[in-house]
Amino acid sequence: MKLYISADIEGSAAIMDWDEALPGGTKYPYFAEIMTKEVAAACRGAENAGWEVTVKDAHCNGRNINPENIPENVTLIRGWTGDMLEMMGGLDKDEYDAVAFTGYHSDAWSDGNTLSHTMVRKVNRFTINGIAASEFIINAYIAAYFKKPIVFLSGDEALCKIAKEMIPCIETVSSKSVIGGATLAKHPEKVRKEIETGIEKALKLKDIDKTCVLELPEYFVAEVEYKEWQEANKYSNYPGAKRTDVKKVSYESHDYMDVLKFIMFCI
Ligand SMILES: [Zn+2]
Repeated sequence: MKLYISADIEGSAAIMDWDEALPGGTKYPYFAEIMTKEVAAACRGAENAGWEVTVKDAHCNGRNINPENIPENVTLIRGWTGDMLEMMGGLDKDEYDAVAFTGYHSDAWSDGNTLSHTMVRKVNRFTINGIAASEFIINAYIAAYFKKPIVFLSGDEALCKIAKEMIPCIETVSSKSVIGGATLAKHPEKVRKEIETGIEKALKLKDIDKTCVLELPEYFVAEVEYKEWQEANKYSNYPGAKRTDVKKVSYESHDYMDVLKFIMFCI
């Protein structure tokens, strides 16, 4: 059995500022190592359950995880595949039996994380069928499209709560929450221990292929609210898109791959 892990950084333990999250930032090397260690913990948990693992490095340039510091049997997807799957690049290869997420974070409109955003920082809010669509939700729908069970998420507490409501059988590990405008952080080592045991437990559950597969909506209304009206003006030219307000563009389709194409070109 083979697990696909999509790994981000803004939901990792303790991280709270863009200087810590982006290459070139003074504290970035430390937090890239925190991300690497969380991914390594997730891989160990999966291997303890007898699974093989492929990891997609899904933050920024896709080159954050230190390949040296993850278990040697893990395959790592570095950089971007350049297709609509983005943070789930390679999942369309029909070799995976389940999907997990590490280091994920709240969406652009949420106060659940000091680094809340959806894909890029020019977006104020992104919804699918009226629901705030975090990167987790966008990518959970990709897993649903390919009928892959979603077994595990680590990230900020607010996102864990949403994930649990969407997919009751998902195992979650909260890395941190907010206190006012600050981060209330768990110790990174504690987060790693919980990730390792959490993934192992999730993969040992019975019938995950039946109980943990999310149902994909039949119709999608995607709406982006940009921070600047000039972006709405520009992206309303995307084929099929409509400008619905000064800063908003919406796009509708029955096919989720069309929505992903809209996201790829307009977000
Ligand atoms: Zn990220």
